[in-house]
Amino acid sequence: MRWVSTRDSSRSLSIREALKSGIAPDGGLFVPDRFPSLSLRDFDSVSELPDVASVLLTPFFVGDPDLSRELPQICKNALNFPIPLRPVPGRDRDFILELYHGPTSAFKDVGARFLAACMETLIRVEKRTSPLSVIVATSGDTGGAVAGAFYGRSGIDVKILFPKGRISPRQEKQLCAWGGNVQAFAVEGAFDDCQRIVKQALLARPWLSANSINLGRILPQMIYYAWAGLARFRETGTAPNFIIPSGNLGNSVAALWAKKLGLPIGVVHLAHNANHAVVDFLRTGVFRPETTIPTLANAMDVGAPSNIERMQSLYPSIDDLRRDVHATCASDAEIESIIRTSEREWGQVLCPHTATAAYARRLIPEDQREWILVATASPAKFETIVEPLVGHEIELPEALKHLLNQPSQSQTIAPQLSALFSALGE
Ligand SMILES: *Cc1c(COP(=O)(O)O)cnc(C)c1O
Repeated sequence: MRWVSTRDSSRSLSIREALKSGIAPDGGLFVPDRFPSLSLRDFDSVSELPDVASVLLTPFFVGDPDLSRELPQICKNALNFPIPLRPVPGRDRDFILELYHGPTSAFKDVGARFLAACMETLIRVEKRTSPLSVIVATSGDTGGAVAGAFYGRSGIDVKILFPKGRISPRQEKQLCAWGGNVQAFAVEGAFDDCQRIVKQALLARPWLSANSINLGRILPQMIYYAWAGLARFRETGTAPNFIIPSGNLGNSVAALWAKKLGLPIGVVHLAHNANHAVVDFLRTGVFRPETTIPTLANAMDVGAPSNIERMQSLYPSIDDLRRDVHATCASDAEIESIIRTSEREWGQVLCPHTATAAYARRLIPEDQREWILVATASPAKFETIVEPLVGHEIELPEALKHLLNQPSQSQTIAPQLSALFSALGE
């Protein structure tokens, strides 16, 4: 299996090259040159997440004997926490897929841990002697997941850039409390400055970008859709439908790739916040990037989702896309009203991102179809929004509690690449 750019399919790369480069040389995103086709019978003997993962991902690693051999171990290492699929009390056909039980309490743990495990394996099999540097700019969730995933892995160091004073104290803690091989830099500027410095650094140094468009983060996100789809299909004989809180569309592209492989996945409903570029695209058939609108579901504040290129490449026809993919927006007021009643209606307090999915569910008519709401983060990460709405404290997950008790370390730098280099002593 080979990987091509969404912008030019004439040159192809191996999985290893694609994982290491992150983005295609022409600025496009990597997609498979053709999709393998899996039969449901291939999954007959597996039901646990890491085992489903190995069967699902094997075709993508064909051609790389090292990674293929290590794949079962990489999957086990990445999926070292539970992903429950819970029926919603009082609702016959609704389920919640809880992706937030990982080390940093958000679904990005799955992709970040898989990428980290792949890189650790490559360092070992390639007998690399100099350390591999991973760099990432973050406005919140991503940096924490990447830091946690790479923390303590041998032969790798991690540099995280965040906009100083512009993220919540709890988010900052999740970037700065690791120590060890994780270095956090507070940039005196905005998120865009952090991103610019990372882009420049990647041109100047052979560092790895751990941003969310890396294949090593997209591929493993197929796992939980495959697993949940199989679990419901075995029960009912019908493919369940999914509602996915969406921003940059990485999580939902993974669902669509799993569907394309032949897994039992029905409609994929994209739940957005007030950022409406994707909803407009489905309506008009023309994609127009928008400026980003800040909302309560801030990990989904994306005006021009980069993974739209992968979606368009998967669905060259807008009519085919409209058959499989639906989308809605939720305003901040709608998000708040969902959170307020979430314990009663959904059996748990929902985070602002997951609330957009619950809002979307309200707009879908009740019929025989099953819907799986994808819960992307724990409400405890967004306590300043959620606690006043539900009127009580949200208990912290253990992993988060531990991290928040560690001392913070970060270096403040001016918003220039030269400042990063001098802080690193280069
Ligand atoms: C990143 C994130 C999203 C959006 O995921 P995309 O893959 O960018 O669409 C949704 N919810 C949470 C909690 C996130 O951290």
